[in-house]
Amino acid sequence: MISSLIYLLSAFLIVISIDCMSSPYRAVRGYYISAVAMGLALITCIATNINYNAHLITAALLAGGGIGIWFALRVELSALPQMVALLNGIGGLSSSLLMWCVATHSHINFIIVLCFVIGLITFSGSMVAFAKLHGWMHRNLSWTKWLSLILFVLLCFVTWFYIENDGAGFHALVTIVLLLGICLTMPIGGADMPVVISLLNSFSGWAVVLVGLLSGDLLLIITGTLVGTSGTILSYIMSKAMNRPLLKIIWPKKIQKKQEDNTDGIAKKGSPEEAAFIMSNARKIIIVPGFGMAAAHAQQALKSMTDILSKKYGVDVKYAIHPVAGRMPGHMNVLLAEAQVPYENVYSMADINSEFASADVAYVIGANDVTNPVAKTEVNSPLYGMPILDVEKAKTIFFVKRSLGTGYSGVDNPLFYAPNTIMLLGDAKTITEEIVKDME
Ligand code: NDP
Repeated sequence: MISSLIYLLSAFLIVISIDCMSSPYRAVRGYYISAVAMGLALITCIATNINYNAHLITAALLAGGGIGIWFALRVELSALPQMVALLNGIGGLSSSLLMWCVATHSHINFIIVLCFVIGLITFSGSMVAFAKLHGWMHRNLSWTKWLSLILFVLLCFVTWFYIENDGAGFHALVTIVLLLGICLTMPIGGADMPVVISLLNSFSGWAVVLVGLLSGDLLLIITGTLVGTSGTILSYIMSKAMNRPLLKIIWPKKIQKKQEDNTDGIAKKGSPEEAAFIMSNARKIIIVPGFGMAAAHAQQALKSMTDILSKKYGVDVKYAIHPVAGRMPGHMNVLLAEAQVPYENVYSMADINSEFASADVAYVIGANDVTNPVAKTEVNSPLYGMPILDVEKAKTIFFVKRSLGTGYSGVDNPLFYAPNTIMLLGDAKTITEEIVKDME
C-alpha cells in the first residue's frame, strides 16, 4: 500500500517535471524534480523486492548503473541521438526478456506475445536507427517494406501456432520479429529519422505498459504510459512540423537515385574578414545553427560573435531554430543554452521565417538540409514536403561549412550557388573565431 502511494507520488512529480521542461527557464528545476522522483521510485522498488534475490539485484544494479555512468560520461553531445536510439532498443529488449520469463512460467496468451513482439521490434528497429545515425549504414532499402508485409503475415501465423501449442515455434517467432523490425526501419532515412526514433521510443513505452498490466506493477504502467504517450505526441508534433504524414514516413516512396541537378553555377567563396566587414555593417542578422555547429563545438564562439555584433556594432541578432536541426529534438536549443545565449533571442521556425526577407544577413553555421529549397520543389527528393528556413530571402547568406557536400539527407543544396550566397569554407568554430578576431 505504502509503496503504491510512493509510486503515485513519483508519477505526480514526473508529470510536474515534464511540465517544467516546456520552458527553458524551469527546465533545470524539472530535471532535479524528475531525478528525485526516479530515486524515490527506484528505492521503493528495491526495498520491496530485495527479498527475492538480494545478491542478484545488487549485482544487476551495480553492473547496469556502472555501464550507464560510463557511457553517459563518455558520450559526445553530438552522439546523443544514437545513444537515445540504443537506450530505446534496450528498453524494448528488456520488456521482451521479461515477457519471455513470464511465458516460461505461465500459460501463454495473446497479450504476452504482443508485448514480446512490440519489445523485440523496438529493439531491432532501434539498432537500425542507431546504425544509421552513427553513420554505419547509409542505404535506405525501399524494397524491404514489401518484405515486412510478408513477415507480418508470417508473424500472425507463427503467433497463432505459438499460443495454440503453448510455446512451440519460439525460435521462428524471434527470427521473424527481429527481421520485421529491421525491414520496417531500413527504408526510412534522411530527414525522417527523428520521427522514427520518437516512434520507437513510444513503442518501448507501450511495451512496458503491457508488462506492467500483466505483472500488476503500478510503476511499470505509469512509466510506460508516460514514455508511450510522450513518444506518440512527439512523433505527431514532429511529423506535423515536417509536414509529412506519419504513414508516409513509415511507408516511404522509393527515392529516385538521380536527383535533378539543381547545382548550376559557381559557388562564391568568401573569407572571415569579408564576413566580419559585411556583418558589422548589417542592421539585422539571423543565425541558423545546424548539426555542424554541434560537431565543431562552435556555440561558444558563436555567442562571442553575437555579443560583439550587438554590443559593439548595435546589430539586431536573432537565432532561428528548425524543429529537426541537428540530430535530436531540441539539439540546438541545448547547445545555445549551454553557451548562455539568452532564450529571448532564440526563435522557432514558425516565429522567425517571415523575418528573413528583412534580414541583411543569414549566417548559416553547420546547417544544410533545414535550408534546402528543393524541399519545396523536388517531388522525388527525400526532403520533399519538409518546411525549411527561408534563408534565401536574406540579402546575403553566409554558409559556414567545410565543403560543398551534402547534409544528413544526402541531397545537394542549390543555395550554395545562389547569387547572394557566400561560402565560408572551413571548420565552423575556426571560421567563427576568425570573424570574432576581425571584429574586435
Ligand atoms: P545537416 O546534416 O543537413 O548538415 C550539417 C552540415 O554540417 C553538413 O552539410 C556538414 O557539411 C556540416 N558540418 C559538419 N561538421 C562540420 C564542422 N566541423 N564545421 C562546419 N560544418 C560542419 O544538418 P541540419 O542541422 O541542417 O539538418 C539536420 C538533418 O538531420 C535533417 O535532415 C534531419 O532530418 C536529420 N536528423 C535530425 C534529427 C533531429 O532530431 N534533429 C535526428 C536525426 C536526423 P561539411 O561536411 O561540408 O562540413
